[in-house]
Parts: sequence; C-alpha cells; structure tokens
Amino acid sequence: MEDEEGSEYGKPDFVLLDQVTMEDFMRNLQLRFEKGRIYTYIGEVLVSVNPYQELPLYGPEAIARYQGRELYERPPHLYAVANAAYKAMKHRSRDTCIVISGESGAGKTEASKHIMQYIAAVTNPSQRAEVERVKDVLLKSTCVLEAFGNARTNRNHNSSRFGKYMDINFDFKGDPIGGHIHSYLLEKSRVLKQHVGERNFHAFYQLLRGSEDKQLHELHLDRNPAVYNFTRQGAGLNMTVHSALDSDERSHQAVIEAMRVIGFSPEEVESVYRILATILHLGNIEFVETEEDGPQKEGLAVAEEALVDHVAELTATPRDLVLRSLLARTVASGGRELIEKGHTAAEASYARDACAKAVYQRLFEWVVNRINSVMEPRDRDPRRDGKDTVIGVLDIYGFEVFPVNSFEQFCINYCNEKLQQLFIRLILKQEQEEYEREGITWQTVEYFNNAIIVDLVERPHRGILAVLDEACSSAGTITDRIFLQTLDTHHRHHLHYTSRQLCPTDKTMEFGRDFRIKHYAGDVTRYSVEGFIDKNRDFLFQDFKRLLYNSTDPTLRAMWPDGQQDITEVTKRPLTAGTLFKNSMVALVENLASKEPFYVRCIKPNEDKVAGKLDENHCRHQVAYLGLLENVRVRRAGFASRQPYSRFLLRYKMTCEYTWPNHLLGSDKAAVSALLEQHGLQGDVAFGHSKLFIRSPRTLVTLEQSRARLI
Ligand code: ADP
Ligand code: MG
Repeated sequence: MEDEEGSEYGKPDFVLLDQVTMEDFMRNLQLRFEKGRIYTYIGEVLVSVNPYQELPLYGPEAIARYQGRELYERPPHLYAVANAAYKAMKHRSRDTCIVISGESGAGKTEASKHIMQYIAAVTNPSQRAEVERVKDVLLKSTCVLEAFGNARTNRNHNSSRFGKYMDINFDFKGDPIGGHIHSYLLEKSRVLKQHVGERNFHAFYQLLRGSEDKQLHELHLDRNPAVYNFTRQGAGLNMTVHSALDSDERSHQAVIEAMRVIGFSPEEVESVYRILATILHLGNIEFVETEEDGPQKEGLAVAEEALVDHVAELTATPRDLVLRSLLARTVASGGRELIEKGHTAAEASYARDACAKAVYQRLFEWVVNRINSVMEPRDRDPRRDGKDTVIGVLDIYGFEVFPVNSFEQFCINYCNEKLQQLFIRLILKQEQEEYEREGITWQTVEYFNNAIIVDLVERPHRGILAVLDEACSSAGTITDRIFLQTLDTHHRHHLHYTSRQLCPTDKTMEFGRDFRIKHYAGDVTRYSVEGFIDKNRDFLFQDFKRLLYNSTDPTLRAMWPDGQQDITEVTKRPLTAGTLFKNSMVALVENLASKEPFYVRCIKPNEDKVAGKLDENHCRHQVAYLGLLENVRVRRAGFASRQPYSRFLLRYKMTCEYTWPNHLLGSDKAAVSALLEQHGLQGDVAFGHSKLFIRSPRTLVTLEQSRARLI
C-alpha cells in the first residue's frame, strides 16, 4: 500500500488485524470511516461503507492513479477492483464478474456506476465511433432504468426496485463492443401501493412534473400527483428525489435525452408515456354495482366513464372492448363455447389492479429489451470463435427484513442465500486452485454451508416454492392458511423452519399466518403467508392481454405477444412468479460461477442517511450477515496473505540490508527468503512458484512494524 495509507488510517486489509474478532473488525472499520477511508480489503474482496457525502475520491485523476496498477499498490478503492477485473479480462482473456451486495441504501448502485465510469474512462483510447456509441448506451442506460425501476423508499431516496445484472462485452483490444442487461423481479406491487413516506416509481412523477402543459393535456393528465390513486398513496409527494438529478422536472428531460441517445424513436418514447398515463387513469377507475342492468347486464358500471375513454384512446384500443375487459371476463364453458361472466365490484377492482401491475412490468421489460437490442455486440472477435470476453456487474437487492415480510422479501432473501452459497463456493474454489497452482499444501476449512436453507426453498416436491406452486395449481380451493399447514407438515423437523403451529409458545408469530426461516446469517425472518398464493400465481385475465395485443400502437402491442392466444387455447398454466424467479436465480448463479469473481460488500453506516455517522450496532449486524468475519478467517485459515515476490519486496525491502535499495540475489524469491531469514520469520511462510504465502498475520504485523520504524 502507498505511504498515504499510514497506520493512523487503520489496516487497509482486515486480514492484517491482530485478531479476528467482531470488536477488532469494528474498531478498524470505524477508524477508517472517520478518516474518510470508506474502502477496505479482505484479500481481494472490497468492503465499502456508504459515506453519504461527496468525497474527493472519484473522477479522471483518481482513475488515472489506479489504471493498470496492482490491487494492493494503491489505497483500497472500487477503481482498483474494476481495474483488476478489467486486467483479468484483457490480459488473461478471463470472463469476470463483479458482485455487489449489501442492504438497501448501502451504496451498491453508486458502486456499480463508479465501476462503469472507470471502465468507460480507461477504454477506447483510439476513439472508435462504434465503441463510443456502445459506451454512451451503457452509461445512459442507467438513467433510463433508474427512472422506471427506482423509487423513493424510506431507506433510500433512489432505491432500485429490481435486481440488475449487466454484461459488458469486450473485443480483443479490450474495448466495449456491446452489453446485455438482465433484470430480476421488479417490485411491481409498488405500482398500486406505497408505504407512508414512499413513492411510486420515479417515472410517474417525472412525467407529471416534467412534461409541458400541452403534453399533459394530450394525455388527459393533471400535473398534481395527488390526483391519482397510484401516486398519492405514500403522501410523499412534495419530497423530491435526492439523487444526482435532484428534481423530477430535470430528470424527466434527462431521461428523454437518454432514451434518444440510446436509440428509442420519438414514437416509442410517446408510447412509453401514453402507457404510464394509462396506468394512472386505470388507478382512478372505480366500480359501482347498479340496481338496473347496465349495458353489460351484470349490474356493474364504471363510476367515471371518461376514464374509460382515456384508456381506450391512450392504448389505441376500442372503447367497448376496454369497458368489457374491465367489467367481465371470458370463460370457456364446456367445449369451445365462450361465455362472458360479469365481475363483482371486488373482482373488477382486483382485475384492474392486476392489469395495471402487468402493464407496468411489461413496459419495464420492454425498456430493458429495447436497450439490449441496441447493445448487442456487432463486431464479434473472430479469434474467439465469435465469443467476446465479458465483465459482468451484479447490483442486486440484499437481505430485506421488515417486521412482517411477504412474498417479495421471501424471494429477495432466497436470492441472497443463493449468492452466499456461490460466495462460499467460489472463495473456497479460488483459494484451493491458487494453492494448487503455486504448489502449496493447505488444510481445508469448514464453514457453515447454507445449502440446507437453499434446499428448504427450492427442493422439488417438498421445498417451499414447490408447495406454493402446488397450492396455486389448485383452482382456488387452497388458501394461504392451508398452504402454511402443508409447509408445517413437510418441514416440522427442519432446523431452519418454524411456525406458530410448530412452536405455540412463540408469540412473535401469528397463528395460522406466519412462518419463520432462520437465514444463513442467523437472521430469523418472519414471513406472513398472506398473499403468497396470489402473488405467486400472478394471474391476469386473458381479456386484458388480448385487448392490448390488439392495440394499433405497435410498441404496446409488442409487449403482449401472449394476447394472441384465444381463451380456448390458453390451457397450459404459465409458470408461477416463484418458479420463474427460481429459474432466473439458478441461471444467474451458473453464469456467475463460470466467471472469475470480484466482490464488493457494501455497508450502510446508519439508518438516517446522514454523513459521518457510523452506528455501531447497525454495522455490526451487517458485518455479521455479510459473513465478513468468516471471510477474513477463511482468507487467513490457510494463509493470511499471499503476494508476488516483487510486490513483497517493493513494500519491505527497506527493512533488510540485503535488499535495500536493490538486491543482487539472482531472483526475487531468493531475496525474499533472505529478508525473512533476517527477521527470523522464515518458519511461518511457504514459497510458491511466483508468490509468497504467509501463514499468520503476526508475521505481517511484525514486518509492518519494522517498516513503520523506518518511514
Ligand atoms: P443501494 O443501491 O445499495 O440501495 P445506492 O447506491 O442507491 O444504494 O446509495 C444510496 C445513496 O447513498 C445514494 O443515493 C447516495 O446519496 C449515497 N451514496 C452511496 N454511495 C456513495 C458514495 N460512494 N459517495 C457518496 N454518496 C454515496
Ligand atoms: Mg440500488
């Protein structure tokens, strides 16, 4: 590490701690945080604490200081990690990935942006036009995705409500030639409901606040978000988003500009905003049960007919079909005969909400696919059989624990179990491979393997997701409560599962409603089964799908290919939300496992989003569940530290007369050996082919101390 990282800044790598206890870990974290050192390593893993203030750590000059360097040459930084991933990709043709984890507000998305900026800054020195275009799209895509996928929450004013994995493809010169975004589980329930103090997705407010009067008029919209059911829920209307582009008005312009740069046509952009307006109007539609038979003969009517006109106009669909889809559903009775069955007011509201959510989700997915379509790599490298080298960046939700949790948290936490499993697997695998490569013998370390929890969720037939799917396929006869009872029967002896039924004395759970999972970090999370079946089934009447597929707006129509089917053809049950999510997680983990991983573990310093405050309890908890102490221990279990001989000499050569200022010992390995012998430390190390492996951290501490005495 450079001299600017003196001992008063604490240890730049937690592996260097004298002892691996929570106290020591926290002391070091705190000390560094106070000195503005928000980054610290655990070996090659970067721990980052959100500073909640602008620090002079970023920008072109900082980037230049990290470009092409070794990980340990400079103080710990995201740029160093980005650079390490980039070098592995460029010089060793390795596909790499950077996995960013941490709870909401810990700084994951900001970290992913810094990584992208680093990569954009160090590539394409020859300014090739196509590469510049790709870089523009990569950078601008963030702005668009944030508008549609982020929202103000109580934890983070610019919280990503979807998981994101982005691949960047590089050619043999190391320049980006394309990319691909995968999105995971958008929190679409937010379209309907927001907690107090929270907002719907930014795009709605940007549209209302940022559009010109003329456009709002065309969309039949009022500028005031309090007019719409879907944007007034959280009563957080006057709260602007406190992110880079502080106001909704300005963000709106930035998003439109970003869409233009990416390549959305003006017609597409117009469609996007018409769809958003449609959702707002849908949210205001209310149903009244009438005495006399209305036009639909079901005794149900829409309270404000003008809203139906707006929806029909904005979706470019026939008005009478819009009305019919809102008030009734088509069912196949017997053979091929179709009959129309009227909704009750409650059914109609439910169907309207399902429609609003689905329209938003399809819109979001369409935006992602549209961005992907312009980032598809064009000039594939013929020397790799058309295969490029890839850096993947994963910015995905961390553990989420509320007092009572629902299906969404269940999925998110399952995702974290999967990623933790991968973390264990990769770190072990990597260590082992390195020892083998360097010809070193080592002893295996045991850790808690969370496979048992992953299994509880995803095991065929009996796992929670399988039981849930079974409940969903039962044509409405199985209630959430029965689902819970089935879980109880299957898992009554499972170490990580319990419920009130199984543990009657535990009053923190509600009888017949709650179950708990003990997650890998020892976190016990209470889940309420209320709504599990419904959210998993994720059902939308075919009438809406067909309606939207028949729109004359090509953009909207393209979002509903499944509307093409006739009700009599829709026999196969679509995959449930849980199963789709599980499949996407399995694919994600496989993909990440095939790459060389780099990890960024983000920590949120306090719940109040204030600068300079590190709430010890809060951080301690995160350190625990991110498994950071375990990480340090594993890293030290075999060998606390390893470094190439040349780097070791660079740092410690002044502590030995044979090596200062330069050695004449034939090889760096021999010089390192002489140095260690002089310190009497040779018993604690192993000499690999190219690297020195140091067993106990004590040795490093001793070396650090003798170095400190000299500088
Ligand atoms: P996450 O994606 O983990 O939920 P974000 O990356 O959105 O969290 O960060 C939340 C907020 O914290 C940001 O909007 C920003 O205000 C602040 N923040 C995060 N990282 C940094 C950083 N490195 N420097 C300054 N502020 C930051
Ligand atoms: Mg985020």
